[in-house]
Amino acid sequence: MNAQSTTFPTAALIDGKWITSSKTFPVLDPATGSKLADVPDLNADDARRAIDAAHQAFPAWAAKPAKDRSAILRRWYELLLAETESLAQLMTAEQGKPLCEARKEVVYGASFVEWFAEEGKRAYGHTIPTTGASRRYLTIKQPIGVVAAITPWNFPIAMITRKVSSALAAGCTIVVKPSEETPLCALAVAKLAVDAGVPAGVFNVITTMDAASVGQALTGDDRVRKLTFTGSTEVGKILYRQSADTIKKLTLELGGNAPLIVFDDADLERSIAAAMASKFRNAGQTCVCANRILVQSGIYDRFVAGLHEATSKLHVAPGRDPQSTIGPLINADAITKVKALLADAVAKGAKIEVGGTPDAHGPLFFTPTIVTGVKPRMAIANEEIFGPVASLIRFDTEAEAIAIANDTPYGLAAYLFSQNVSRAWRVAEALEAGMVGINEGMFSNEVAPFGGVKQSGLGREGAQEGLEEYLETKFLCIGGITS
Ligand code: ADP
Repeated sequence: MNAQSTTFPTAALIDGKWITSSKTFPVLDPATGSKLADVPDLNADDARRAIDAAHQAFPAWAAKPAKDRSAILRRWYELLLAETESLAQLMTAEQGKPLCEARKEVVYGASFVEWFAEEGKRAYGHTIPTTGASRRYLTIKQPIGVVAAITPWNFPIAMITRKVSSALAAGCTIVVKPSEETPLCALAVAKLAVDAGVPAGVFNVITTMDAASVGQALTGDDRVRKLTFTGSTEVGKILYRQSADTIKKLTLELGGNAPLIVFDDADLERSIAAAMASKFRNAGQTCVCANRILVQSGIYDRFVAGLHEATSKLHVAPGRDPQSTIGPLINADAITKVKALLADAVAKGAKIEVGGTPDAHGPLFFTPTIVTGVKPRMAIANEEIFGPVASLIRFDTEAEAIAIANDTPYGLAAYLFSQNVSRAWRVAEALEAGMVGINEGMFSNEVAPFGGVKQSGLGREGAQEGLEEYLETKFLCIGGITS
C-alpha cells in the first residue's frame, strides 16, 4: 500500500477494539491486481458480538444530549476533511476511481457528517391540539435502537458516512458490514470516528467474505431494529424477506435504470456535458448514472456527434494517474457483464459508434463506449450496465419518451433536458423516479433526500428525511389536567 494510507487499520472494529483473525481475505487493487492488505474474514458469531456491543452501548449514546453527539460528529467531519488526500489515495487504490473523483467523494462523504451533526439537534416532536379538555397531546422523537448497515463498493466512503452519521446523530448505534471489495475505506473512516471520540460499541465494522451468513445474523437478530442497505435489488429483496420475522424498519437503496431524456428544445451543450458527467463518473458504476439516454429525433444526430467528441476526451488510465478520468471496473464479473450486454445489443441491431473493447491498461479496463440504435426491449436498456457505456435510444414524442422511461421496475434517478418550462414540469411529474434532474446531470448532496420508488427501494437518505429514518415517533397523552 502507498505511504499515505499505511496509517489506516486493516483490522475489524468491535466494541472499540481492533479485531484480527487467523482467517483473512485479500483486498486487491483493481488497476493492477496487486494485494493491498489482508483483512479479517469474520463470521456470524463475530457479527453477534458486534450486535452485543452496539446493544450495550445504545442506552448511554441515546441518552447523550444531541448537542454532545453533534460535537463528536463535528470532530469526525473535521478529521475526514483533514485526511482527504490520504483517504482519496486509499480509495483509488482499493476501488479504482480516478483520484480527482476520490477526493470529491471524501468531501461529499464528509458533508453528510457535517449535515447530520447539525440536523441531529433538530429531532423535534410537536404538540397536538387536544380533543378533550383534561388531556394534552404531544410527540417525542426517539432513536430506533441498534442499526445494521450493509454497504456497496462503488462509493466506499460516502455510502458509509451517509448511513452512520444519520444513525449516530439520531442516537442509534450501528454495525456496518462493508463490501468485501472495499473494506479498507470502511475501516479508515471508522478509525477517524474513534479518533473523534465515538465511544466503544457505538460504531462497529465487520469485515467478511461471507456476506450471506453475516447478513443473516444481522437481519435475524431482534435487537437490530433497523437495516439500512445500499446495493443490488436482488440482494435487497433477500434482506427485505429476512427482516420480516423481526419486523425491522428498512431503508433500501437499490438498483436503478435511470433514463436521461434530451428533448429537441434542450440546450445541446448542457445536455451533452450533463450526460457525460452522469454516465462516465466512476466509469459508469453508479446507481444513478444515465443507463438509458433517450434523445428526440430532431436533436439526435447532433447529440450523438457531440457525445462522440466529448467521449474522445476521456482518458482511460489507473486512477492514480493524474490524467485519469476513467479507471478500471471493480472486478472481472463487471467486465463480463458489459461485454455481454453490448454483444446482445449488437446482435439485436444496435451499433457501436465508438469503443466497445477492453482497454490495454489491464484486464479490468474498458474503453468509453457509445452504442446507438438501442431499443427499449434490449437487455442493455433493462439491466444496470455499470460500465462506461452510453446507450442511446431515439424517440419522437414526449408521450413516447415518458412511456419508455417508466417502462422499468426501477425508479431511482431520472434526468430531463428541455428549455420549455411547461414541458420540464410535465415530464418531471410524470417520471416514476425518486429524484429528477432537470437540466442537471448530477444532483446528490447532503441536504436533499436521496432514494427511489418501485424496486429501487424504500426510504430516503440525507436531508431531514434521512434523520427521520432512524427515529421513532412516540405519542404522549397527558390526562387528568384540571382547570
Ligand atoms: P453489487 O452488485 O453492487 O456488488 P450487492 O448487492 O451484491 O451489490 O452487494 C452490496 C452489499 O451487499 C455488499 O456489501 C455485499 O457483500 C452484500 N451482500 C451480498 N449478498 C448478500 C447477502 N446474501 N446477504 C447480505 N449481504 C449481502
